[in-house]
Amino acid sequence: MDLPKLAIAALGGTVSMQASHAGEGVIPTVSGETLLASVPELTTLARVTVETLGLLPSASLNFEFLLSVLSWARYQVEQGAIGVVITQGTDTLEETATFFDYLWDRNEPLVLTGAMRSAAQVGADGPVNLLDACRVALADTSQQRGVQVVMNGQIHQAGHVRKTDSLALQAFSSPVFGPAGLLVENTVRYLRAPTPRMLLPLPQQTTQKIALLEASLSADTLLLENILELGYDGLVIAAFGAGHVSARWAAVIENIAKKIPVIIATRTGSGATAQFSYGFVGGEIDLIRKGASMAGFLCPRKARILLWLLVGCQRQDELASYLYPPL
Ligand code: ASP
Repeated sequence: MDLPKLAIAALGGTVSMQASHAGEGVIPTVSGETLLASVPELTTLARVTVETLGLLPSASLNFEFLLSVLSWARYQVEQGAIGVVITQGTDTLEETATFFDYLWDRNEPLVLTGAMRSAAQVGADGPVNLLDACRVALADTSQQRGVQVVMNGQIHQAGHVRKTDSLALQAFSSPVFGPAGLLVENTVRYLRAPTPRMLLPLPQQTTQKIALLEASLSADTLLLENILELGYDGLVIAAFGAGHVSARWAAVIENIAKKIPVIIATRTGSGATAQFSYGFVGGEIDLIRKGASMAGFLCPRKARILLWLLVGCQRQDELASYLYPPL
């Protein structure tokens, strides 16, 4: 029987980390080929192409590199792969997943995974996560679901998933929405149908800068006041509660929003921003009047990715339709 073709790329992260000197901590050293060797069962499921595109901690990934990974993934699908799996560090997985999801215009699944325990650690979760991710990438039911994250037996939609624990094995969740599916006895089980996707063209420029500032109690406005002078092209605020800032911040945001797009997201880690509820200065009604856009369910980091991509393809005027897509 002809096995389906699957492409895997390794970018680094804990899944590929080992200690090279005792007592010095783990660093990315394990290639994609070696990761593949840890899941021999995969050879019974697919013909696999594997490439090591990077050996980086995910904190050091950047948008330009991700665009090159995306073009590699597209090429693999053009060459007949029915799905693509990318292994990377978990620290920025929620952001790379979102980045790829806005740009992945294929029906084939693009699946991201990683590990919370390094390659040589007892109970390492890298091999099982990789195998699960491949199962998801190979499943017919994964078509038209865009980019998904597979970790610890759960499948999460790119737009919903967040890293919500720093070290636990169960580090990823999709607040409010829950996982899109599960691996049950090695079988992919989706809990809901695919939802319509919001796609963007590839950015024509990559030099745009989008600032992300978090509101905090009694915070000064020094950084905020300098955003325009520093040359930022957009601003995201991780705001209090349902999308609120202090009256002092609101006054500065009004000036900034006259010049560049400003998105107000919630710093709470779960839930949507409000639109019609609070009338105080710095509340969401005031901020909307001052020209800011509310992020809805998008967390601050995902909102920053969206704005970077929109500015990169000169579509910032369409921001509202990406924040509140028709259901
Ligand atoms: N702790 C991270 C991980 O889980 C390191 C990284 O993101 O590269 O992979």
